[in-house]
Amino acid sequence: MQLSRRVLSLKTSSTLAVTNRAKALVRQGIDVIPFAAGEPDFDTPAVVKEAAIGALRAGQTKYMPTAGDPETRQVIAEKLDRENAISGVTAEHVVITTGGKHAIYLVLQALLDRPPAGEAAPEVLLPVPAWVSYDPIARMCGANVVEIPTEARSGFKMTPEQLRGAITARARVLVMNSPSNPCGTMYSPRELKALGAVVADAARTVAPDLVVVTDEIYEKIVYGEAPHFSMGAIPEIAERTVTINGLSKAFAMTGWRVGYLAGSGAWGLELARAAEKLQGQMTTNITSFVYPAIRVALTRCGDDVERMRLAFKRRAELIYGEVSKIPELVCPRPTGAFYVFPDVSAYFGRTTAGGRAARSAQEMAEAILEEARVAVVPGEDFGGCGRDHIRLSFACADEKIIEGMGRLRSFFGTCR
Ligand code: GLU
Repeated sequence: MQLSRRVLSLKTSSTLAVTNRAKALVRQGIDVIPFAAGEPDFDTPAVVKEAAIGALRAGQTKYMPTAGDPETRQVIAEKLDRENAISGVTAEHVVITTGGKHAIYLVLQALLDRPPAGEAAPEVLLPVPAWVSYDPIARMCGANVVEIPTEARSGFKMTPEQLRGAITARARVLVMNSPSNPCGTMYSPRELKALGAVVADAARTVAPDLVVVTDEIYEKIVYGEAPHFSMGAIPEIAERTVTINGLSKAFAMTGWRVGYLAGSGAWGLELARAAEKLQGQMTTNITSFVYPAIRVALTRCGDDVERMRLAFKRRAELIYGEVSKIPELVCPRPTGAFYVFPDVSAYFGRTTAGGRAARSAQEMAEAILEEARVAVVPGEDFGGCGRDHIRLSFACADEKIIEGMGRLRSFFGTCR
């Protein structure tokens, strides 16, 4: 039976594919070092779990309002005001979703239209390398993805001039993700304000419908060189900016699937109602007994977040030091999120100890898994220069990092 073209042309998520494969190998008792999974190894804070268990016991097991319960949306709106300096966000602007990924899906579905035959598709501007799911989701929504290439040398950051050059009258969405998955780097507030000024200017001239979708899921995992900054806090573009976030990374809650989206002002309300309408035909609401846990996480877990941040900071230094010992890998120092993204292309075409000649990041990742038993994500699906890179997640214990990097050192060291 025929499947839809939409699904047939959809790429499989390579982050999930490698992570699932590595987890399956571990289940078979094979000693694989988990540098693939973009998920904290910490347990969810106990108070968060207790809040969900309490709600379950108290019988909070029924349908909830589609966009989320009003109390929890209020807590999120207050968080965005207090921590992110995004003003004009009320509970009504917030839609709670099944993970950050679904928030992105809802927003892009609400903003983009597949064009009628003969008309040009709307454009989604994507600084690359970028997380593997933005591009496929944007395409599923009928958009053309315009990649804005960045390089390791400049910390994988796009310049205002590059952004200005990429904006046309068809530009509908700019996707931002700082700190970045997979790059492990982040923009400074000054750099983001300069990009915001380009958006504001373009909106007044060539691209009146341009919206910034800023995925800030790694906002808490920063190493102190520059503070995290939200583009929604830039007054000139606040009402054309949608902030995406969730609880997965900051609170070690990947499996809970909690994300949210929020714009501000009158347009933000319109967008929230559109996302709510879509959610009403898709998932209804997120799991009912999770709402109190969200409130506890956002208001009472600052110490846990800081403890985990400090661990990630230590691991960032550890893995960066280890990567730097491998000759010919090019890798910027990680400043946010929990990834390093070294350029391994100097090794393409050389023969591994196991007799493979890896000619691409995909083949290299395959060889590393088979021969060194380290799971890494090949960079092709992150776009742009990602094809020369592999992603290592350091969301695992220090001992695993030391062991895994030892294996990688000997893997690359024996390539001829
Ligand atoms: N964001 C994480 C990663 O990149 C989780 C997996 C996914 O959804 O891509 O590994």
